Amino acid sequence: MTQSRQRNVSAARWSVEDTELGSDDLTRPQNQIFGSHVFSPAVQRQRLPKDVYKRLQRTLERGEALDVSLADAVASAMKDWALEAGATHYTHWFQPLTGRTAEKHDSFFSPTGDGNSIAEFSGKELIQGEPDASSFPTGGIRATFEARGYTAWDPTSPAFILENPNGALLCIPTAFTSWTGEALDSKIPLLRSMDVLSRSAIAALRLLGDDAPQRVYTTIGAEQEYFLIEEQYYYERPDLQIAERTLFGAKPPKGHELDDHYFGAIPERVLAYMLDTEHQLAKLGVPIKTRHNEVAPGQYEVAPLFETSNVAADHQHLVMQVLETTARRYGLVCILHEKPFSGVNGSGKHNNWSMGTDLGGNLLDPGDTPHENLVFLFFCTAVIKAVDEHAGLLRATVASLGQDHRLGANEAPPAIISIFLGGELEQVFEAISSGEGDPSSPGSYLGMGTPVLPPLPLHGGDRNRTSPFAFTGNKFEFRAPGSNQSLGLTNTVLNTMAANAIDELAELLSAKLEAGTELGTAVTEIVRDTYRNHRRVVFGGDGYSAEWEEEAARRGLKNLRTTPEALPEIVAPASIALFEKHDVLSEREVEARYEVLLEQYGVKLNIEAETAATVARTLIMPASVAHLTHLQQAGLDAPAAETRELVDELYVRIRELERLNAKEGELGDMDHVLFMRDEVLPAMDAVRETSDRLERIVSDDLWPLPLYQEMLFIK
Ligand code: ADP
Ligand code: MG
Repeated sequence: MTQSRQRNVSAARWSVEDTELGSDDLTRPQNQIFGSHVFSPAVQRQRLPKDVYKRLQRTLERGEALDVSLADAVASAMKDWALEAGATHYTHWFQPLTGRTAEKHDSFFSPTGDGNSIAEFSGKELIQGEPDASSFPTGGIRATFEARGYTAWDPTSPAFILENPNGALLCIPTAFTSWTGEALDSKIPLLRSMDVLSRSAIAALRLLGDDAPQRVYTTIGAEQEYFLIEEQYYYERPDLQIAERTLFGAKPPKGHELDDHYFGAIPERVLAYMLDTEHQLAKLGVPIKTRHNEVAPGQYEVAPLFETSNVAADHQHLVMQVLETTARRYGLVCILHEKPFSGVNGSGKHNNWSMGTDLGGNLLDPGDTPHENLVFLFFCTAVIKAVDEHAGLLRATVASLGQDHRLGANEAPPAIISIFLGGELEQVFEAISSGEGDPSSPGSYLGMGTPVLPPLPLHGGDRNRTSPFAFTGNKFEFRAPGSNQSLGLTNTVLNTMAANAIDELAELLSAKLEAGTELGTAVTEIVRDTYRNHRRVVFGGDGYSAEWEEEAARRGLKNLRTTPEALPEIVAPASIALFEKHDVLSEREVEARYEVLLEQYGVKLNIEAETAATVARTLIMPASVAHLTHLQQAGLDAPAAETRELVDELYVRIRELERLNAKEGELGDMDHVLFMRDEVLPAMDAVRETSDRLERIVSDDLWPLPLYQEMLFIK
């Protein structure tokens, strides 16, 4: 049996083994596991003294600082609860600028000196931690003489317990700051932006005649795509292990052309895995709603129900973590990279976004009454304005090396940010802005009185999958984020730019109302004028087409194709002004993020390039030479000559890649980054191109890397 056949046979021989969950009788109360590992408000009410619970809730509602006596009481209850659940350690769980989460474990138990130990956990330990910050990227914020960083409890995101086969860990969601109080994470700016948006939206609601809501929350529902591959293949591929994507590999004869994978029956091993992840996520209070196969073979999607932004962003990290750790129990590896397989559909993370009131209203829901229509039109117009004004910045928040293989590559949304409103809604805006509508649509929204919307389909067939920012009935779906990204920065920007636009429109509205204009007329005028100014960002056609690129250029929309082009938008004067005006990020904090993101791009590209050179030289070259030798020994001149030519070409290309890799340069320096994008990346592609041709002729028995068809089709 050839080497690859052996591999395939053993890979396909997966069995449930000891990973069976069994099935619970879900009608029994003790089997209701949702939130069982969360120190939720319900648990708090049960476990905290009544007055402590009330004070805590009040502090949370008002967003006030916690006093120490309160923290002591909460810490004590939290510790008891965690110990009962088997936790031995606690961690301040935070989100440094690496884009993933960090945890440093501290034991609950301290030695007492008499050979025993007692469990201790004070309010001070709950509120503040002091991890050594020197190993986290800070973009120059933290001078090296002051390596300290502080973590501060975020009581708005409940603590939870992570289990592993040998223990459990209490995780306390925290913010991460420098000693000077600057945000070193993605949570703090997100929380700040939520406050900003709430204030702006509440002020606007007052003008619109709504006095009841006290707080507006932004919400996120994130749809996560991922690949699963047999772990045996993963560990045979240094490129997957090191770069998280295949740097070599010819496209399989069968891709997603047959469309048989999307929504197809889920293979049994994968389904068992999904049930396990959902079981764990349910305990952690993450509400999983849907799961299915995605477009590419080996690709799947999981989507939780939406939650307030900071909780959803935390939960999104948990989703990624649980997807990854659980895979190993099923002999699988979960790949979150945006483009693990060249030529095969990549993975994204659709960010459904809306604004909801504390009374349960959704500001982006058109509603049924003329007044609800008015509120909806006002906020929807603000979003259109915001996206047009800060399209470059929004694009920059989803820029990364992995994303460069995806955005604009005819599968994912293009790198041009535009808005899809859907036929009906676009007609409404067009009619309001021109003052003359389609005669078949209700006339009442055309006049200057209170607009009345025609019924808008919530789940129309009218969907545009090619649009990066689509209105989907009662929310906007931002489809450009990558599968491997944290939602923090993107939503910080969404919230801040929306708040800014809401403020500006509210100012107009206030002036009109003061001048005696009737509310309906005032809003309609604002919608009309604002839409006229920003309609260039609205596009309902095919976002993948070449014509759209030309059309977008004519409209003056930015097309930021790669990360080095996109990232400078973060530090553009208009972006810094936006962040500073609303106190979401200071100039220094903005620059820090830019530096970290640019450096990550450089470092990752460098790692890929060196891995590619090594794999080509030490695995692919020797296999190809062995094949050549066989052919020569057999006296087969023609195939030997064909192989020889490719081997020579491979060698030349490897040498060129090595030469470019050896060039000195700062990995966070824009000039060097551009050199890597324009010289190193094409040199890697060239090595791959020759290698992929060799893959098609070298003996299967000699080829050192598992093939695409194996990785993607053996489940
Ligand atoms: P669709 O058919 O448009 O995909 P779903 O109801 O399936 O609509 O929702 C897709 C995602 O959007 C889910 O994660 C869901 O939780 C989320 N979502 C729904 N409503 C909102 C909202 N108001 N804010 C944020 N996300 C939302
Ligand atoms: Mg979707």
